[in-house]
Amino acid sequence: MKLPEDGFTFPGIGTRVVFGSKTLARVGEEVERLGGQKAFVLSTPNQAKDAQSLSTQLGSLSAGTFSEAAMHTPVEVTEKALDSFRRSGADCVVSIGGGSTIGLGKAIATRTGVNQIAIPTSYAGSEMTDILGETRDGEKTTRRDASIRPETVIYDVDLTLTLPADMTVTSSLNAIAHGVEGLYAPDANPVMSLMAVEAMKAFKAGLPVLRDMPRDQDARSLVLYGAWLCSTVLGYITMSLHHKLAHTLGGSFNTPHAETHAILLPHTASFNAVATDALAPLHDIFGATPGAGLWDFAKQAGAPLRLAELGLSESDLDRASEIAVKNSYSNPRPFSQGDIRALLQAAWEGRRPEH
Ligand code: NAD
Repeated sequence: MKLPEDGFTFPGIGTRVVFGSKTLARVGEEVERLGGQKAFVLSTPNQAKDAQSLSTQLGSLSAGTFSEAAMHTPVEVTEKALDSFRRSGADCVVSIGGGSTIGLGKAIATRTGVNQIAIPTSYAGSEMTDILGETRDGEKTTRRDASIRPETVIYDVDLTLTLPADMTVTSSLNAIAHGVEGLYAPDANPVMSLMAVEAMKAFKAGLPVLRDMPRDQDARSLVLYGAWLCSTVLGYITMSLHHKLAHTLGGSFNTPHAETHAILLPHTASFNAVATDALAPLHDIFGATPGAGLWDFAKQAGAPLRLAELGLSESDLDRASEIAVKNSYSNPRPFSQGDIRALLQAAWEGRRPEH
């Protein structure tokens, strides 16, 4: 074991976490623990039934539901939700769903100062972070602020049993990407690195089981545990090249969030592996080199492997590499536009990386 030569800063973890099975039954208790008397329950249209049943369960502690959360937190939806929130007399928000619903909860909480409880049902990992990405007229802006982070997160493995098979895989790889970037981050610290490695072990053990048995409780628990750890890493550590590329493709070419992360990850890990030994722990978990091990794992799990599958053309790759080098950001390996173009080409073709 080698500690960073210049020492490190551990930011502390400010969120209360309740993890397990049947933990949904504890939402009322957690609302009261935060001093709340009326909770406004959020979901997407897809999970409106879950929001409704949670509202019924909360009884007099519920101020009603709003089930129009949408991908990338459009400001129009937030304004409509805020209007209902104010009219309901609510004093806190409870978000039940994936990153889209949790994004809406954050958007309301940061505008009103109320407490929020997040109940994540996917592995995307928004719940532990102080990050909010919002869209207005198709333009996405992302910011970090302490008022954005949920006070309490309730993980109930039972809610993840219905996560569709393709989303289970891509959402897991999206989470693993946070862990991988956490290992070589400029502000990496030994505790967050422990969490990242533990998370990858949990995904490696759980995800292959879910391919054949999507409702296996033990495997779902392991994967959700990994998702919590990766969300924590995302919430307290700076992300690098991988995230920049995923956001470039999502923002400028509208590629789907989790799939884009899943396809890029082996290639960004491979690119950085030659410049840092921070990814060495991946060998014991996934085998081979960091890039090849992650690619084999993704293939075995049934993940998409080619950017071409997301509708991107080769000329899109030229433009994406131009956009990706416009601003500077941290990364263990320096890169040119040509490097990014070559990386994207390999991901577009779905080649197994060497490093
Ligand atoms: P999502 O929240 O849009 O969910 C996709 C669909 O799956 C929705 O219809 C949802 O209702 C449904 N769903 C979710 N869980 C389900 C379950 N258990 N069973 C059945 N259906 C379920 O997608 P996502 O991948 O969870 O989140 C992606 C969004 O989150 C993106 O907008 C991304 O930018 C954001 N995100 C933000 C952060 C952050 O820190 N701010 C971190 C990660 C992701």
